[in-house]
Amino acid sequence: MKTIIEPFRIKMTEPLKVTTREERVAKLIEAHHNVFLLDAEDCALDLLTDSGTGAMSAQQWAAMMIGDESYAGSRSWKRFEAAVRDITGIDHIFPTHQGRAAEGILAECVLKPGDVVPNNSHFDTTRANVEYRGAVALNLPCAEAFDTAAEAPFKGNMDLEGLKRCIAEHGVEKIPFAMITVTNNAGGGQPVSMANVRGVKEILKRHGIPLIIDACRFAENAYFIREREPEFEGRDLLEIAQEMFSYADGATMSCKKDGLANIGGFLVCRDGEWAEHFRNLLILREGFPTYGGLAGRDLEAIAVGLKEALDYDYQVYRHATVEYMASRLLEIGVPMVQPAGGHAIFLDAKKMVPHVPLLQYPGVGIVNALYVEGGIRAVELGTVAFGYIDETGQEHPAPLELVRMAFPRRVYTQSHFDYMIEAIVAVWRQRDRIGGHRITYQAKQLRHFTCHMEPIG
Ligand SMILES: *Cc1c(COP(=O)(O)O)cnc(C)c1O
Repeated sequence: MKTIIEPFRIKMTEPLKVTTREERVAKLIEAHHNVFLLDAEDCALDLLTDSGTGAMSAQQWAAMMIGDESYAGSRSWKRFEAAVRDITGIDHIFPTHQGRAAEGILAECVLKPGDVVPNNSHFDTTRANVEYRGAVALNLPCAEAFDTAAEAPFKGNMDLEGLKRCIAEHGVEKIPFAMITVTNNAGGGQPVSMANVRGVKEILKRHGIPLIIDACRFAENAYFIREREPEFEGRDLLEIAQEMFSYADGATMSCKKDGLANIGGFLVCRDGEWAEHFRNLLILREGFPTYGGLAGRDLEAIAVGLKEALDYDYQVYRHATVEYMASRLLEIGVPMVQPAGGHAIFLDAKKMVPHVPLLQYPGVGIVNALYVEGGIRAVELGTVAFGYIDETGQEHPAPLELVRMAFPRRVYTQSHFDYMIEAIVAVWRQRDRIGGHRITYQAKQLRHFTCHMEPIG
């Protein structure tokens, strides 16, 4: 059989509101042409993010019902701890309410002003937590990462020569830890090879620098390793994940991704002194060490979800949804980042609507057209999100104009994807008619979340 089916059936449904084009045009005007300001129920297919938007399994819901809400030492904590330890092999385990809380505790305990943290690519909250401590968040992606059209198997890898240069330049005492993000979120979840993780560890070990894995999509990364790195062909995803964590001295995790949960995270480490600091700050910021900002039922859902994410059939299906959409769009010639990563597709707006000037936000034109065409909510990752305004007030475009469509886990079925493809194709066919936008209101920071816009002409 060649059709890869969703490896689940649906027991509970959630309605999708079907709206007309006229209604969507009106909603978009009300939202000042910024899809962040739309009500979620007006978005039939919401591809804003894959974070916390997944569907839980019957096993997860069942586990929630037996959540133990005791303040200290609950049964649910024991199950959570056992699952995290089985996967990571790491001793000290701290639950947090999200990934960024784990990052915040790590940064506050370990970093000081002037330190440098190398990473293949920092996620935005990771960067913000590092910089908040006055340290430098240094991105060291491999060379292939810069070519959006290059077909390389592990475009999420870290640049090993760059890491050596960074250590030589800044010195060991300025680098309290290095990070590697799996999969690399920048670029839609490009994977990191085991060879690269080993290479990074070898360099760091020589200098006694700890390695922290940003593990948000560790299971998707394990799947790519199994499929693309010959040594791991046919291997169990749990074993692959275990080997990956065996090179780590610690990890931060958002369980809203490969925890298959709607909330939660954790921080783990091997070093007893670090653990002492983390525990004290955890109590101050998150909660008692056996629940850390989560309800017992959340700990249960995560304990089950972490293992479900390592199910091979689930990952085959997950990857098939991304590939299905990517291959159809490529056939038609829609410009996108290649190869597609693990959790999203990025349309290349600069190539789709080359007639729209960069300071008239080509990505916004595409995002808004997708909404009007099909009630699909995508997100602009271009000049509105990443452009900058210099001291003279002059605005500068971002290097890339991308439109991200992130895939929630286990939420949409194949007909939803067929519908999305139809909407993208319709937008592609009428691309000549897509125009620019201007910003009429913006905040000083992170303007893309709240700005108001209007179409030009
Ligand atoms: C989502 C994410 C985070 C932050 O996690 P939150 O749960 O959103 O706080 C950190 N790193 C990466 C790579 C992520 O994708």
